[in-house]
Formats: sequence, structure tokens, C-alpha cells
Amino acid sequence: MTGKNDFYKLLGVSRKAQPEEIRKAYKRLARKFHPDVNPGDKGAEDRFKKVSEAYDVLSDPKKRQMYDRLGYYSEAGFQPGEANPWGRRPVDFSGFDFSDLQGAGAGGGSSFRDIFSQLFGRGETPPQRPEPGSNLEYQATIGFWDAIRGTTVRLNILRQRSCPACNGKGTTGRERLCPECEGSGSADKTIVNLRFNVACTRCQGTGRLQDACVPCKGAGRLSEPESLEVRIPAGVQDGYRVRVPGKGNSGTQGGPRGDLYIITKVNSHPFFTRKGDDIYTVIPVTVPEAALGAKVEVPTIENARALLKIPPGTPSGQKFRLREKGVASLKSGKRGDQYVEVRIHIPKIADERSKEILREFSHLNPENPRNDLYRQL
Ligand SMILES: [Zn+2]
Ligand SMILES: [Zn+2]
Repeated sequence: MTGKNDFYKLLGVSRKAQPEEIRKAYKRLARKFHPDVNPGDKGAEDRFKKVSEAYDVLSDPKKRQMYDRLGYYSEAGFQPGEANPWGRRPVDFSGFDFSDLQGAGAGGGSSFRDIFSQLFGRGETPPQRPEPGSNLEYQATIGFWDAIRGTTVRLNILRQRSCPACNGKGTTGRERLCPECEGSGSADKTIVNLRFNVACTRCQGTGRLQDACVPCKGAGRLSEPESLEVRIPAGVQDGYRVRVPGKGNSGTQGGPRGDLYIITKVNSHPFFTRKGDDIYTVIPVTVPEAALGAKVEVPTIENARALLKIPPGTPSGQKFRLREKGVASLKSGKRGDQYVEVRIHIPKIADERSKEILREFSHLNPENPRNDLYRQL
């Protein structure tokens, strides 16, 4: 038996140690790691259990003899052909490769260490390197007019901030040797009778451990709600990203803060349709206006109305452009255009006099508008 499961190593005594020496070693370690002395410290609690287990075996001559001979002790004794004499023991995760978990929990910026401390609550963490904080993204719904003129929105966000208890370090600052590898940073791993020397999973090969900060569980950061006002510039479009520098998640160990991005969702308007910096509108005109030509008033996104000149003989669906009556561009400040589509409104005629006039109009203009169509067939 090597490493953590070596009862002699756990107690810090030699294989030839006398019972009195074993008893003294156990008393000293039990005092050090007793849960009453280390409230809330899971690492100490684990250590206390292991040391007690080691003492239980090595203090009993019969058990110790079996341990010395076989390299383990089992209450059931060794059954020939038994594949796993440790099957009765609680599951031990210490040989498990956690590197697969790295980068899991995306978005919240959870690191491997966060997951580790949540799963095992050992209350310890290997020394950390600075990591930059991740960016945050929030959506904000902006009114049609606010998007054109600019506005301020109030947002409630959840962001990771540097833990005040440990100043973002994630540890209490106390550093000690990793008990798993006894400071070597490496561990022996046996797979099908082949022994490998791999990085110690508990300290990630550093050989050292630090007591994790309690409020942030070693993460160095705490998620906190924050209410903030964000200035939305004039001219934003649907799906625009407004960047708020430094308002993303805090980094660890003094790593730089991420940014906050506000994704705009711009409301529509019943009359004005916006496409980029251009505005699209539909205006009804009368038959005489379309036939004879007219000047019609068209609403624009400015309060003033524009005068649109419709030439005689304008067909329904004709589009006109009002130059620079669109939205001022966010980038250049140059205004887009307004497109006006005319739709001819057909009146419902009830009085005889109007009907007479239209019949007379037909006699004067006998053309058939479908003739062109027939010729093409
Ligand atoms: Zn902390
Ligand atoms: Zn270690």
C-alpha cells in the first residue's frame, strides 16, 4: 500500500513502530484534526476519519498482522477470488480524474474549483492563478421612439463580484502541505497491476493546499444582484449590443473584470416600419389625387409633416423616397431615408350623381387596362 491508504504513513510512523509510538502518533493527530477543533472543516474531518481508521487497525495486533501481510485489512477476511477486498469501504473519489469537469457550468463562470468545493466541500483549494471575469449579456426592450432618440434603462442583473472576505483570493491565505501527496504533487495510481505516477488530484500537482474562504467557498467571487442604469445611445436597432465596460463578472486573484452587453429588443410601431436607418410607410390617396396629381402630407418621425408631390397618373403601390427623413445613424449620424408607398383608396359610391359622372368618365376614356395583358398571352 502506498500514499494515502498507507496506515503507517497516515500516522507518520515507521513499519516497525512500537504500539506506544503508534498510540502517541494517533493522539497527536486526532487532537489536530478532531472535528470539534476544526468546526466546518471537511478536510480535517476526512483526515480525522482516516487517521482513526489507521489507528483502529494498527493498534490491534491481529489486525495489524493481517494488514502487514496483505497490505489491507478487511473484517470479512480475505476471500480467495474476491475481486475487490475494499468493496465494503465507502466509495473513495480521490483517484478520480476531475479534469473532465473543467469548464463545465459555462455562463456563470463556475470553475473546476467551484464544482469541486460544492461536491466535496473539503474546504480547501490548490493555489489559484488569476482568471479574467466572463462577459454578461442581458436583453432590454426599448420603445420605438426611445431607440431613435436614445434613452436610459434600469436593469437588475446578477453578477459575480470579488468576495470581500478574501479579497477575491478564494482562500484564507494559510497554506499547508497537501496531505494526499505529502507535498510531492504526484500520486501513484494503479490500474490493472500497472503503477502510474500522475499529478495529485487533490492539489492539482502543486503539493500545497490553502484553506478555502468560507463565504465564497473558495471561488473568490460571490453572485450578487445589482441594479444599474445603462445609457442606450440614439439610433440603436433591434439586436444591437450596447457594451458597458467592466460591468461583467469579476475576475479571480485580481484578474480583469468582464464587460456587460445589453442586447436591444426594439418595439415596433403601427405606422412607421423601421429597417436599419430607413423608415417605411404606406399612405392612402384618392382616385382623383392619383389621376390628377396632388400634394399630400406625410407623417415623418420628426413631429413635422413632409409634403409629398404625387405626379398625375400615379399607380397604386408606387414608392417615393423622402431623402434623409429616416433615423440618424448611430455610427455616422447621417440620416436614413423614408420610403412612402401610395395605395389608391376606392370610394364606395352611393349617390346617383357620382355614378353618372363615373359612367360619363368611362365613355370619354374607353380604354381597357387588360388589353396589354391579353396581348402578352
Ligand atoms: Zn472569499
Ligand atoms: Zn497533493
